[in-house]
Amino acid sequence: MWTIVATWRMSKEGIEKGAEILKEKGSALDAIECAAKVVEDDPYYKSVGYGGLPNEEMEVELDAGFMDGDTLGFGAVCAIKGVANPVSVARQLSEKNVNCVLVGDGASQYAENHGFEMKDMLTERAKNLYRQRVLEMKQEMKAYRGHDTVGVLAVDSKGSMGAATSTSGLFMKKKGRVGDSPLVGSGLYADSEVGAAAATGIGENLMKGCISYEIVNLMKQGKSPQEACETAVFELEEKLKRRNGHFTDLSVVALNHKGEWGCATNIENYAVSVAKENEECKVYHVHRVGNRCEVVEASKQWIDQRVEE
Ligand code: ASP
Repeated sequence: MWTIVATWRMSKEGIEKGAEILKEKGSALDAIECAAKVVEDDPYYKSVGYGGLPNEEMEVELDAGFMDGDTLGFGAVCAIKGVANPVSVARQLSEKNVNCVLVGDGASQYAENHGFEMKDMLTERAKNLYRQRVLEMKQEMKAYRGHDTVGVLAVDSKGSMGAATSTSGLFMKKKGRVGDSPLVGSGLYADSEVGAAAATGIGENLMKGCISYEIVNLMKQGKSPQEACETAVFELEEKLKRRNGHFTDLSVVALNHKGEWGCATNIENYAVSVAKENEECKVYHVHRVGNRCEVVEASKQWIDQRVEE
């Protein structure tokens, strides 16, 4: 019984393509790479790949991670520039025994030397949004509004699992800043014997809880994906509040090896996309209700809206 799940509505078209691979008995790893690439290639989404929002120097620096739940092979690229599909580079690195995590120029150079498509990832729209933000920041607007990561998880018909993430990170981040998304255990984790998880939100805080590993560990202890997600999010939020005085956006998605999925958030408007064997791809809104989350199917009208800026 295969399943593919991912963070946000933006992953819908990607997981539909990934689902086609799984339907044909393809692998979870091919499906998650394919899904993440669809999002990376779509300039409409301003937080992933082409069209992603730049750092404070108006450069698009991207982070991506990839994990094979069978071998525990992990690869990542951090602050990579000028590469069309960071997730594919991360996947290739996950197959290696050493040099699995590459940063900055080294990551871009590796991609170029290994035949990955090179591309200027900064679009006119992203430049305009950057200029607008520079003006807003002069009036003391919050610098980091605008982020979101695509995190994709799948289990295939053989029971193999994988996790992939891709993001442009926080809008107006410092040059060289790396978020949680390419960090194993924080942005993503996959273990085919248990399950997989991925995160989105403010990376600096997600890292403090190694939240994806924590969710997989909670599933290993017997919690359902939904219970594991809620426990991890709200315990981390409580801990950050108590020990640090404040907390930020924390949203997650999880899948176990049986194909059951779950999600949780501490913000207002989180969403996940899900495709399963014998079921149409669906998008769900995730609402916080106390320290639980309510998961409600999104309407077609909401799914189809596109707001241009
Ligand atoms: N977690 C990402 C980062 O901190 C951003 C996001 O998911 O919204 O780079």
